[in-house]
Amino acid sequence: MGYSLGLGLTNECNLSCAHCYRPTDGTFRLSLQDVRRICDSLPIGSANLGTGENGLHPEYNAVVEHLVGQDIKTSLTTNGYTVQVMPDPLLRSLSEVEFSFDFPTPREQDAFRGPGSWDLAMQAMERCRTLGVEITIISVMMRTNYQRLPQIARLAHERGANFRVNVYQAGEIGRLLHDL
Ligand code: SF4
Repeated sequence: MGYSLGLGLTNECNLSCAHCYRPTDGTFRLSLQDVRRICDSLPIGSANLGTGENGLHPEYNAVVEHLVGQDIKTSLTTNGYTVQVMPDPLLRSLSEVEFSFDFPTPREQDAFRGPGSWDLAMQAMERCRTLGVEITIISVMMRTNYQRLPQIARLAHERGANFRVNVYQAGEIGRLLHDL
């Protein structure tokens, strides 16, 4: 049993979603050396790579290799981009990949996250399924989508994914969140 580590290697992202809380006034990164130092300082049992899109970090693959090499159960949260830039063996080494969906249809999802975001996530989910990697769909519950959550749960079931709802997520845009 060890600590669960949440890592955001970079605030960079290929999308710019309305509800995102990442800073956009510069590029901020953790280095492989930073991650090594954390692993050397604390007993880490599991790690999740989350916000922004980790595959944009130049040392992303090396960071995953390091975590997995330390027997740390490592998961990724992604919009699909990072999955598509990972080699098969590295992707297979992840314990789980989580995909963010706010709406259950391509039209709604692309309107919220940007054109092509639905296809990107779907193709990446399919790649994980083909490689036998466990997948989860996560949704942030907002006043704009809370009535659509049953349809997203159905989508997850159809795609062989787990389903998780984040009822609270820190953000500066309260008009989208929890104002039910
Ligand atoms: S995909 Fe995630 S990290 Fe990227 S802008 Fe959207 S919410 Fe933010």
